[in-house]
Amino acid sequence: MLSIHSSPLGPLGTRDTGGMSVYIREAARELGRMGHKVDIFTRRTAEVGDPVIALTENVRLVHLSTGNGRNVPKEALHRHIADFHRALESFRNRHFLDYDLIHSHYWLSGSLGEMVRESWRRPHIITFHTLGAVKNSIGVGESEPLLRIATEKNLAATCERVLSTTPKDKVQLIRLYDAVSDKIGVVPCGVDLNLFRPLDTAVARRRLGFASDHPIVLFVGRFDSVKGIDSLIKAMIYLRRRDSLRLVLVGGDGLASPATRRLQKQASDLGLQDAVTFAGRIVQDRLPAYYSAADVLVVPSLYESFGLVGLEALACGTPVVATPVGAMESILQQGRTGQVVTEAAPRLFAEAIEAFLPNKARKTVSAADIRASVLQFSWSKVAAALAAEYVGVCAIGAIS
Ligand code: UDP
Repeated sequence: MLSIHSSPLGPLGTRDTGGMSVYIREAARELGRMGHKVDIFTRRTAEVGDPVIALTENVRLVHLSTGNGRNVPKEALHRHIADFHRALESFRNRHFLDYDLIHSHYWLSGSLGEMVRESWRRPHIITFHTLGAVKNSIGVGESEPLLRIATEKNLAATCERVLSTTPKDKVQLIRLYDAVSDKIGVVPCGVDLNLFRPLDTAVARRRLGFASDHPIVLFVGRFDSVKGIDSLIKAMIYLRRRDSLRLVLVGGDGLASPATRRLQKQASDLGLQDAVTFAGRIVQDRLPAYYSAADVLVVPSLYESFGLVGLEALACGTPVVATPVGAMESILQQGRTGQVVTEAAPRLFAEAIEAFLPNKARKTVSAADIRASVLQFSWSKVAAALAAEYVGVCAIGAIS
C-alpha cells in the first residue's frame, strides 16, 4: 500500500490526516489478520525514529526518505515521486521482496504506484479518497491544480482497478474522468465496532466535564473549509434552546492555528463565545465518550468522500445530522437514526438538530437501535471485500 502524503499513524483530525489514514490502518490490520502480508509505504517526517515499524500481525509501516534525506512538505511531494520510487526500490532490493499488487491511496501515491507498476509489471489498484474535480466544482478553499485532475484522469485509465468508497464516487469518476464503469469496484469504509460503542450519556458527560443537563451538539473532524464548520456555528443562532446548548468542536491544529482562530472569531462575533467549546484534537480511544456525551453529531460538510465520523457516532448510538455527502444518505435512516438536510444551510441544520435534542413529548430511538443500524460496517467485512478485489486483480498476473 502506498500512502505517501499521510501516515496511518499520523495525528488524526489535523490538516492532512483523517479518514484515509484510518482506512489504511484498519484495512491493513484486518488484511494482516486474514494472513495477507502488507507493507505500507509513507514519507519520512521529522518525528519518525525507526524507518520500519511493525504495526500489527503481518503489517509493516515503511518510511521512505528522499535522496537528500530532508522532509518533503505535501505541496512539493509531486516533484519528489521519482525520489520515493528510488527509495522504495532500494528497500525492496535490500529485503528481496516481491509484491503481488500495489494499492495506492490518493492521487500523489497513485503517481508513485504507476511508476512502481511499470517497473514491477504488477497490477495497480487505486482508491482516490477525494477527487480534485469534485473539490473544484464545490469552489471552497484553494483550487486543486490541473496536474492533480490530469493525474487522476490518467490513473483512472491505466490502473487495473479503481476502488470507490461509495456508489456516488463511482458515478463522479465516470462523469468527470471518463472512467470505465466495469473497472470500478465499490468497497465502503468501516468502523471499529469494539472501540465505538455507546456509553451512558451522564457518565460520558461527567468524564469530559460537561454539564449533565445542557444539550450537546458535536462536530468531529479536520478544520478544513470543506467541512462547513462555519455554517454549523451560524446554525446555533437559530436554535431555540441556545442559552443552555453547547456546540463542541473536536479536531483542528490547535488553538493558535489560523483555522481555529477564524472560527473562534466567528463565534464571538455572533455572541456565541460561551456556547462553543474548542476541544482540540482528541485521540480516537477517547472519542466514544464525546460521541456518547452528545445529543447529535453534525456533519456539515460541502464534500466528503465517505464521512467516517458519521459512522462512528452511529456506532456509539448517537444520531447524525448531515449534508448529502459521502455515504450519509445511504447510511442514515431519515428521522430515525438521523437526518440528511438538502444543503449546508444554517437554518436547515438548526431545524434538523432541534428534532434530536431531548424532548419529553417525543419518543426517541434508543442508542442500541441506532448502533444496530451500522453493525454491517465492520473493518473485517471491508478487508474481506478488499481481499476479493485483490484476488480478482491478481488473477490478471503480470501486466503487459
Ligand atoms: N479524528 C480523530 N480525532 C480528532 C478528529 C478526527 O481521531 O480529533 C478521526 C475520526 O475518528 C475519523 C477521522 O479522523 O476516523 C476523520 O475521518 P472522516 O472520514 O470523517 O473525515 P476526513 O478526515 O476523511 O475528511
